[in-house]
Amino acid sequence: MIDFNVPPYTGTEITYIEEAIAKNHKICGDGPFTHRCSEWLEKRTGTTKALLTTSCTHATELAALLSDIHKGDEVIMPSYTFVSTADAFVLRGAVPVFVDIRPDTMNLDETKIEAAITERTKAIVPVHYAGVSCEMDLIMDLAKKYNLAVIEDAAQGILSTYKGKALGTFGDFGCFSFHETKNYSMGEGGALLIRDKENVERAEIIREKGTNRAKFFRGQIDKYTWVDVGSSYLPGDMNAAYLMAQLDLADEIFADRMRSWNLYEELLKPLADKGKIELPTIPKHCTHNAHMFYIKAKDLKERTTLIHFLKENEIQAVFHYIPLHSAPAGQQFGRFHGEDVYTTKESERLLRLPMFYKLTENQVRFIAEKVIEFYH
Ligand SMILES: *Cc1c(COP(=O)(O)O)cnc(C)c1O
Repeated sequence: MIDFNVPPYTGTEITYIEEAIAKNHKICGDGPFTHRCSEWLEKRTGTTKALLTTSCTHATELAALLSDIHKGDEVIMPSYTFVSTADAFVLRGAVPVFVDIRPDTMNLDETKIEAAITERTKAIVPVHYAGVSCEMDLIMDLAKKYNLAVIEDAAQGILSTYKGKALGTFGDFGCFSFHETKNYSMGEGGALLIRDKENVERAEIIREKGTNRAKFFRGQIDKYTWVDVGSSYLPGDMNAAYLMAQLDLADEIFADRMRSWNLYEELLKPLADKGKIELPTIPKHCTHNAHMFYIKAKDLKERTTLIHFLKENEIQAVFHYIPLHSAPAGQQFGRFHGEDVYTTKESERLLRLPMFYKLTENQVRFIAEKVIEFYH
């Protein structure tokens, strides 16, 4: 069976974890590996501050707290996304207002956002699907015009760019995921990217149970105390050690995934040219990170048959997401603004092919062959 995902493992993770335990004697949060990961993220993305978190979900929760989202506030986001995008705001009592996506990138349709803005709107949450950027220039202009916060769900977007700038660094806050299904992993984990210096101190406090412990560790105060609301959003240093091993080989992992992605595209292009399937679109001013390779079948029925055919051939291909506005919690907590032209229709066509670090050339060739065979 060719699995849909295999968690990334370079081989050096175990050495790094051992160092955390036996040399650093530090396995709780904010140890040396956490600091190295943060520095790496700051250097590679250019963000003012990166804080490692226990997940992207938690990074988004932190961003919602920092953006002062309260009961009854509205937050604009796509319905075609993972539940966490909405959950983080629903937890604060806010109403997710879902806006339709573009069929080419599966991202929030930037031309439909303005009509969804009301006097209760507090934030826009662009989700960079498959590590391909939303139209950030337009989104940032709207945010400025209406004085809204922008929180980027860049869970899939690490090392992707929009007009040369790293995803996660446009909005007030950017959220990365290091879940085992993402390009770089620590099992469960994530990071909060903070654009403005004035938000850093409160972020550190909320992340550390509402205490000013970070300041204490830096020697800026002589004892730490409870100063604000908070929770525990910091991962243990063993997990950070696993991640650091991957970040040290980030370019190799990136290149490996990109080889698979490009080969899929090359092999499946003839099928797309014949109009049998559709392939992902990467806008000219965007670079992507080979997070995902998907194809689009004609409709739900054809996709279902294709999944079965691939399964019979020992290939695990998967689909997502059930649009949030059609899920029970989505109906309870949110609403869709405007018409659902593409969200449901395109989500029913999309199929993700196996994509992971160390997927071999032969495996990609075999998978593409089977897809082509299906359409013969
Ligand atoms: C993976 C993912 C998340 C959640 O990430 P966790 O680290 O598992 O919390 C959120 N949004 C999107 C778009 C994702 O792909």
